Amino acid sequence: MAQTNYNPFHAAQLQFDNAAEMLDLDQATRDLLRNPIREFHFHIPVRMDDGEVKIFQGYRVQHNDARGPAKGGLRFHPQETIDTVRALSMWMTWKTAVADLPLGGGKGGVVCDPHNLSATEQERICRGWVRQVYKNIGPNTDIPAPDVMTNSQHMLWMLDEYEVLAGARYPGAITGKPVGMGGSLGRTEATGYGVIITVREALKELDISPESTTASIQGFGNVSQYAIELYQQMGGKVVCVSAWDQQDQTSYAFKKDDGIDLYELRAITNSFGGIDKEKAAELGYSVLPGDKWLEQEVDILIPAALENQITEENVSSISSKVKILAEGANGPTTPAASKIIDEKGIFTIPDFLANAGGVVCSYFEQVQSNMNYFWEKEEVLSKLDTKMTSSYIAVSNFALENDMPMRDAAYAISVDRVAQACHDRGWV
Ligand code: GLU
Repeated sequence: MAQTNYNPFHAAQLQFDNAAEMLDLDQATRDLLRNPIREFHFHIPVRMDDGEVKIFQGYRVQHNDARGPAKGGLRFHPQETIDTVRALSMWMTWKTAVADLPLGGGKGGVVCDPHNLSATEQERICRGWVRQVYKNIGPNTDIPAPDVMTNSQHMLWMLDEYEVLAGARYPGAITGKPVGMGGSLGRTEATGYGVIITVREALKELDISPESTTASIQGFGNVSQYAIELYQQMGGKVVCVSAWDQQDQTSYAFKKDDGIDLYELRAITNSFGGIDKEKAAELGYSVLPGDKWLEQEVDILIPAALENQITEENVSSISSKVKILAEGANGPTTPAASKIIDEKGIFTIPDFLANAGGVVCSYFEQVQSNMNYFWEKEEVLSKLDTKMTSSYIAVSNFALENDMPMRDAAYAISVDRVAQACHDRGWV
């Protein structure tokens, strides 16, 4: 489905240039913000379980830290490139700014496929990654978190390596840690729940009751599973999800017209969000080509997998029934496809607003770690709701006042906040 010649960093720069034009930014601010402020490229030697040493390419990119320490996840992916990490780090800057957190934006990556790595090999990659960037990350510098194919166990290995090198405990150096080891209750749910909090607000704005709606979702990983949970609690019905199949190296869509059963599907899903297609068929799901998730006659589409999934090539297959596109993934829609979606009259909740719940909860985790007092889950989730709702309303008000799409409004607010911080610090 993905366009092969597509470069997400060029897309991120194009989106930024558009915002810079809207805000009439001076040249120096544009030059500063359209590129990352700092990048680290390195190679991680890892002793594999068979005794051989393999070298893995690793990255950390800090796009901007004017509003606070850089913040963002670490991805494990076989197709990771420096330009995907650059794009994702820039989107993190706008994400922390739109949620008005005292943080900047960064992202990391390791070119690897954890499907083919043992737990101990993954642990050595995590520790090796930290050894390479140790001097350039930390609670007041740059704080990694989980992302695609990394989880709380990876975060704990990374924190442990960091603390061994530092010779002291620094729980605020990494977020997304396991609960009981400095992690926050609600962090696992936060990104998916956050997506649905913004969907709830959009439905209110469009005067549609959640109980009357259906949705189709791309991906069945962490973001998707918790988005489904909250959406179903709100009364919505998910009729289709897609998932990557490692064995066939392609994705499949799993469809049930009377609604998928989250818990039944979860029971036949691996830790990477891959659904067992034979078992799904036995449970009565239609197993279709992966692209079919986009073609469903539903009210809400939620891409919750990777960047570059809705493109000029496949955007025309979106049904005229669709009213809302809620971007759970980072950068799922190319700028050209996004324009067509706006013209079709579909209401987009842009990625760095829709999926900000994860980093909002990471911020709460740091706050709790710093005071060494941990909140009950209800308190975390209610604070998450307050933050996501106020961020949504600020963007929506700006969009209505200026008669522009939500993505443009989100960019205008975030880029303005970051540019202002750079000016106030006397950088530009
Ligand atoms: N990886 C998540 C994201 O893309 C969370 C980042 C964080 O918590 O720092 O927003």
